[in-house]
Amino acid sequence: MAVPAHDQRDYEFASKFDLPIRPVVRPADGHTLEPGQAFVDDGIAVNSGDLDGLPTAEAKAKVTGQLEARGLGHAMVNYRLRDWVFSRQRYWGEPIPIVHCPSHGTVPVPESALPVTLPEVERYEPTGTGESPLAGIESWVKTTCPTCGGPARRETNTMPQWAGSCWYYLRYLDPKAEHEPWSKQAEQQWQPVDLYVGGAEHAVLHLLYSRFWHKVLYDLGHVSTKEPFKKLRHQGTVLAYSYQDALGRYHELSEIELRGDEAILKATGEKLKVAVDKMAKTKLNGINPDDVVAEHGADVLRLYEMFMGEFELPKPWDARAIEGCTRFLKRVWRLVEEFDDNKAPAGDPHLRLRHKTIKKVTGDLDRMAFNTAVAAMMEYLNQLTGVGATREDLLTLIKLVGPFAPHLGDEAWEK
Ligand SMILES: [Zn+2]
Repeated sequence: MAVPAHDQRDYEFASKFDLPIRPVVRPADGHTLEPGQAFVDDGIAVNSGDLDGLPTAEAKAKVTGQLEARGLGHAMVNYRLRDWVFSRQRYWGEPIPIVHCPSHGTVPVPESALPVTLPEVERYEPTGTGESPLAGIESWVKTTCPTCGGPARRETNTMPQWAGSCWYYLRYLDPKAEHEPWSKQAEQQWQPVDLYVGGAEHAVLHLLYSRFWHKVLYDLGHVSTKEPFKKLRHQGTVLAYSYQDALGRYHELSEIELRGDEAILKATGEKLKVAVDKMAKTKLNGINPDDVVAEHGADVLRLYEMFMGEFELPKPWDARAIEGCTRFLKRVWRLVEEFDDNKAPAGDPHLRLRHKTIKKVTGDLDRMAFNTAVAAMMEYLNQLTGVGATREDLLTLIKLVGPFAPHLGDEAWEK
């Protein structure tokens, strides 16, 4: 580039070979230059003729205007999209609606003949030749050219699974629409998506591409919002403890006795190496939600997932911490079961804490800080079980717990 005052590599090159370094941007007032460093930020133009004194953004606009006026260049926006292979040699996937004609080349299937559907097949395994399994189904491949009516062949590659995931949120708005992907009315009523929650593993491709498709649809006039999602939050990965013996073999939780922070192999009494890992079959540390539901109930699973840590951070599944959530819900239930208006404390001893808890849980829900909301409810319950709850306390607690443990919340409310 040869801008030694404003690019670090150029700066180092020019310094080493004693070349002149001429600044054309200076830091704005109140900011200083780092010694030995190129100035790479926006600032004020210097040594730049009639651009001198202009802030960087204005200098850019002015110099672009000058180049345009002299016919030497023009402003342009470049988009960069990561490559992602679109066609697949698989049976599963939307057929690409293209027909190959010997005279007309690649011809799009006309709208009246859409959608092109997959044929019913006996076998959908890969062919082993690198060709799509569809290529072997002659009755499906043989067709006619939409342009000349002559013999033609269908495209046999299919779309990748992400072709659907790039716009499914639009189809969900109007899943039964027969003659269009979604109606304008549904799109205008519901778009954009208020909150999109997913794993960070989607950040690079799925989100980039669904935004890209959406922006193309916007430019074509098919959607009314420039962005598909108002807010996006990534949930952290749930990790798990793994237990390894001296020979490197992994052991599952049922073979182990936990004593404080130590894990002992029941069969031999050996102390095992404890680590936090991704859940994996090879490490015997996977947690099946169905097992948790069978043992503790769906409400406990749900509450624990929200309580286990900050929403965005990775965190280990901790079998012992589940017990805490079980106890909390049992105590809420007992308080409801044992409630008696005649035995409730006089006055309103928990007024302050009750209102603090309502405020905390409400605000935390909006911020998706579920773990601290649960902690606040636990603190409130502790005080209630000590002094006794009023009817108002109990009604409040049930309403707060409801979104976190809906089955118990509903039963308690009914009662
Ligand atoms: Zn043709």
